[in-house]
Amino acid sequence: MEAQIDNNEKPSLNFIEEIIENDLRNGVHKSIITRFPPEPNGYLHIGHAKSICLNFGLAIKYGGKTNLRFDDTNPVKEEVEYVDSIKEDIKWLGFKWAGEFYASDYFEQLYEWAIVLIKKGLAYVDDQTLEEIRINRGTIQTPGKNSPFRDRSVEENLKLFQEMREGKYADGEKILRAKIDMAHPNMHMRDPLMYRILHAEHHRTGNDWCIYPMYDYAHGESDSIERITHSICTLEFDVHRPLYDWFIEKLEIFPSHQYEFARLNLSYTVMSKRKLLELVKENHVSGWDDARMPTICGLRRRGYTPESIRHFCDSIGVAKRDNIIDFGRLEFSLREDLNKKANRVMAVLDPIKLIIDNYPEGEKEELEAINNPEDESAGSRMLPFSKTLYIERNDFMEEPPKKYFRLAIGKEVRLRYAYFVTCTSVEKDSNGNITAIHCTYDPLSKGGNSPDGRKVKGTIHWVDAEDCLNAEVRLFDRLFVSETPEKVEPGKTFIDNLNPDSLKVIPNAKVERSLADVNHLDSFQFERLGYFNVDYDSTKENLVFNRTCTLKDSWTKQN
Ligand code: ATP
Ligand code: MG
Repeated sequence: MEAQIDNNEKPSLNFIEEIIENDLRNGVHKSIITRFPPEPNGYLHIGHAKSICLNFGLAIKYGGKTNLRFDDTNPVKEEVEYVDSIKEDIKWLGFKWAGEFYASDYFEQLYEWAIVLIKKGLAYVDDQTLEEIRINRGTIQTPGKNSPFRDRSVEENLKLFQEMREGKYADGEKILRAKIDMAHPNMHMRDPLMYRILHAEHHRTGNDWCIYPMYDYAHGESDSIERITHSICTLEFDVHRPLYDWFIEKLEIFPSHQYEFARLNLSYTVMSKRKLLELVKENHVSGWDDARMPTICGLRRRGYTPESIRHFCDSIGVAKRDNIIDFGRLEFSLREDLNKKANRVMAVLDPIKLIIDNYPEGEKEELEAINNPEDESAGSRMLPFSKTLYIERNDFMEEPPKKYFRLAIGKEVRLRYAYFVTCTSVEKDSNGNITAIHCTYDPLSKGGNSPDGRKVKGTIHWVDAEDCLNAEVRLFDRLFVSETPEKVEPGKTFIDNLNPDSLKVIPNAKVERSLADVNHLDSFQFERLGYFNVDYDSTKENLVFNRTCTLKDSWTKQN
């Protein structure tokens, strides 16, 4: 055995941990506060899990805390259903938030701060249409043009802004903008929008407001109100950072800071909520929790464990540049966890009868089987065994190639936990299809142990033909055929990359009787076939299992 290398070196810090350790060491902050800020416009996906594990993980590591803040500044797309699902998913992942907040809680404060900026001559009401504003913003090469309304007096701006709030104007008629610099090299600094008029009902504030703050204005100010020390977001926001800092500086409020990391991309997966919603709305999947979806609820239904998702998120690190993570890495974390936890059982997906000719008619015995070789405390169970069994159709071959170690006429194999059997003949129907396989058994090989030192290379699984249960089994393949489903030729969309064969339903699988009393989401290893769990559709009368994953990696490119 090789010696284990045990060095007590600290694992290296990611760049955000380095920043935090510096801040704590230099007394910039006494303790840290992070936040997870979902917009409640869809269900959480595995990318959000990365952000959750990062934000909550940092607070746990450094003894700080993490707020859950719903970024609910867009009344049109947001729903209470999403708020509830987000909370459920974070809890399921194993995290507890310190405070539950809503950006909409801060609408009054944000409004007052807008007035502060107007009074400082740093914000103005613009009457241009959105289209005019867009055109006058200029381009990266050319400076923008000042709005003709840019030099309104403070008094006029105060009056107009108040009238905007009071509902005097229609949607789009007026807009509040920060007064920064229309020639700024960063387009986000060219008098960005702060408030728009939207006569829409909000899921929490109802009809109290008809003006709503823009993301850039609301986000940093919300961070500041909660005294967030490290506001972590994804890379695309780095160009927004100067604006984030500008508002905080001009308002002279708590100096939260924004840090950006690369968002998680997974091969064969789309992650934008808009696209996931499209899959749901157009019935390409059965719902947000379809077991093929990369949503947290989809992964849960599929049989993923919180531990496996957390392990995956930690193991991929925190990158500063965009990359694509192989889906196989997520499954690797899953297999590692299920290998420790899932009890082994036997199930036959494509059953064919195996008849043991020399086994006494009408006799039945019970054979002991180990539940989990990785976990002694899981104990053992008794398997019924009799003259007629089911085995997997593809565990028999009429004309086997040389290195075939499963059943063929004249060959001996081990029936897991039972006996050695030797195949003698097959029965066929008039079309030549095999309908049953005959064999003899060696009574001295009970338990699957060799009676005389003779070896058998193959071990196959089986269930008792009488004492077994019917089950529906759902096998999944990747949802998309392309590694990067969003990269498409002109005229096509990611929908064109859907895998038409991502779901295969086996209506008549046979499973051992110990599965009679399972609960939804219970996980098992079906020996030799993979990890499976109990679907929400499963009932005592109609068992339904999902294949969570196969036993071996099927994602990574084989070289
Ligand atoms: P989507 O584009 O999927 O709708 P989003 O960024 O609009 O995602 P939010 O609800 O705004 O979704 O995200 C909440 C938090 O999760 C944000 O801090 C965001 O940066 C982070 N997040 C979203 N997607 C990912 C991802 N793929 N990897 C890491 N973090 C992510
Ligand atoms: Mg968003």
